[in-house]
Amino acid sequence: MDTQDKIEQLQLVFKCPIRSKAFSGPRMQAEELKPFFHEFWIVIKEPDPPVEEDLDEESQVANKHDGKDSEDTDLPNMEEECSSDEGTDRDSEIEDQTRGPAGAPRPGQKRTAPPLVQASEALNDLNKLLHPPRKKGAGHIDPGLNSFVRSQMEAMKSMLNNYIRPLSRTYGAWAASSIQAAVSDGHGNYCARRLRVLCRQFIQDRTFLPVNPYGSWNESILVDEDLTNDLGLYLMEIGKEISAKKLMDYVNSDAIRSKHGIEKPISERTACRYLNTLGYRWSTPKKGQYADGHEREDVVYYREQVFLPQWRRIEQRMANWVQDDVMKESTLMPRMPGLEREVVVWFHDETIFYAHDRRKRGWYHKDAPAKPYAKGEGASLMIADFVSARFGWLQSPDGKHTARKVMRPGKNRDGYFTYEEICNQAIEAMAILQNFYPQYEHVFVYDNASTHLKRAPDALSTRRMPKNIPKNGTNWGVETTKRNSFTGKVEYQPDGKPAKIKIRMADACFADGTPQSLYFPEDHERAGTFKGMAVILQERGLGDMSKLRAECKDFKCAPGLNTCCCRRILYNQPDFVAVESLLELTCKAYGFKAMFLPKFHCELNFIEQCWGYAKRTYRLNPESSREDALQRNALSALDSIPLSSMRKFANRSRRFMDAYGKGLNGRQAAWAARKYRGHRVLPASILDELEKAHIV
Ligand SMILES: [Zn+2]
Repeated sequence: MDTQDKIEQLQLVFKCPIRSKAFSGPRMQAEELKPFFHEFWIVIKEPDPPVEEDLDEESQVANKHDGKDSEDTDLPNMEEECSSDEGTDRDSEIEDQTRGPAGAPRPGQKRTAPPLVQASEALNDLNKLLHPPRKKGAGHIDPGLNSFVRSQMEAMKSMLNNYIRPLSRTYGAWAASSIQAAVSDGHGNYCARRLRVLCRQFIQDRTFLPVNPYGSWNESILVDEDLTNDLGLYLMEIGKEISAKKLMDYVNSDAIRSKHGIEKPISERTACRYLNTLGYRWSTPKKGQYADGHEREDVVYYREQVFLPQWRRIEQRMANWVQDDVMKESTLMPRMPGLEREVVVWFHDETIFYAHDRRKRGWYHKDAPAKPYAKGEGASLMIADFVSARFGWLQSPDGKHTARKVMRPGKNRDGYFTYEEICNQAIEAMAILQNFYPQYEHVFVYDNASTHLKRAPDALSTRRMPKNIPKNGTNWGVETTKRNSFTGKVEYQPDGKPAKIKIRMADACFADGTPQSLYFPEDHERAGTFKGMAVILQERGLGDMSKLRAECKDFKCAPGLNTCCCRRILYNQPDFVAVESLLELTCKAYGFKAMFLPKFHCELNFIEQCWGYAKRTYRLNPESSREDALQRNALSALDSIPLSSMRKFANRSRRFMDAYGKGLNGRQAAWAARKYRGHRVLPASILDELEKAHIV
């Protein structure tokens, strides 16, 4: 292993970009790192610098001004928009504040870390601000801080604790303490640097609190999940009309600024960056985009008549989480009592991590089907997984068995998981669940991708069926790819094309459930020959079909009339309607249920938000074109999502289910979800409110 490898390993542990220099400081080195990375320190350890001084990282930032150090900006996903000038401006801005009135050293000079005594006094004062004691008696009063300021102060507190406590692994090490605090808060190097600035300021001047959180940190306001959610819902609400200008106006509106404590209005350019960060890409409009398909007649029909009734049936047996404390199960909405087991719903999806995030043309949400990478886009990694609000990612309690599938599209140029891989993944998932969580009833929820809906080759289908019995000496069957009966592998003709064979279609069934063969029985004069649609329908007691046409032109029958042609009648027969996909059949064979989301309804699949969270974490890593780094960083980003966040995401999805269940359309649901953020269900008065707000 070379040094770079080891640094990358450390980055995995600390989940933030790390430069070897940061670990050559006097204290954060050998002894601290030894237990974790025995090899690491031996290789990169540099000669000990003077012990009295702490080489603070800010001085490394100064190196950047000389152009020696080109890596690391705060949020790499915004890099495309940020010129390098901007990056250095930001850094120097921080430094200016850091230097303070005392006229501390110029960039490039070593700086003395604040003395422990001073840091300890500052920590005491910070504690008092966070938990003001009551005038009389025990207990605390609410300091009345907004959530952002509060979280900043908590992080400062944890950094100072790391710094002054002799038991801390980073005791006395200023920069390392900040990294520890940032990392345990789920952030990276930028946050660490910011913490050092804040702590220094606070040590010098107790009135200096992070009350202006977005002043110098404007780029990062999207670290606030609540704000990100608000913006996401607003964008969904305006659908096709998305523009940077609109987002800018929205963020700059009084309501949003006061709600989230944003002091400076943002510019249109910043709004562009936000759009990018929020997952919108400038691209050419394509058919079937979110806004077009969401309220399409067939999609709405499926949502209301198929999906929601299924959901309602299992919803009563799902656990609910307390709104403000999602780690607690709600007792207000108890699950239905009795013998029925709790239902755990596992949402499935696939996503792609790119080594380099690329910009496309037009602001479209990238929830369109994941595309494999084109040449020049850099390496990419496809991941398919399941997640539940109860347990998080699908895995055994010890984490040794997981259902996660990882694929490099580079190896397989079509870049998608095949239905076989999807079925195999389901089988592995079911094995884990049966082994480790048999006390629950498990339901899989997949999206409506064609891979998931693929049916067996011999599955019932009226496509291509002739109306009449084929002529003597001929027969009708389904043409399919020939597979070796032992290995299951596709067989090829001498010309290299897959061999085709005709197979019989599977049996249908009568209304009473008894099977109906579509081929004449052994004792019939045309034994084994296809019966044709007319005979099949007549056998079902639907009368004489000889006068009825085989099908209306192009199967575009007049709406409402379901007796116009043989194909339409057969098409609507319950057994032809209820044909299950291979995936459904696979799950059923193991006693599991699979459901399919309505098309274009990614807001119902909370795994989407998990991908988003993981990708934000992933982007904190330094850009690397190395495939192994890509995989490691992507996987550790996925594992960094706290269960509490997952449950919040799940509550949000259920709010949408509830909205559609109350008869709201997509736009109304987005409006309602934004208004009732944090609630799992919407109030009964929601329809009146929509009317008042003129949301149609
Ligand atoms: Zn017809």
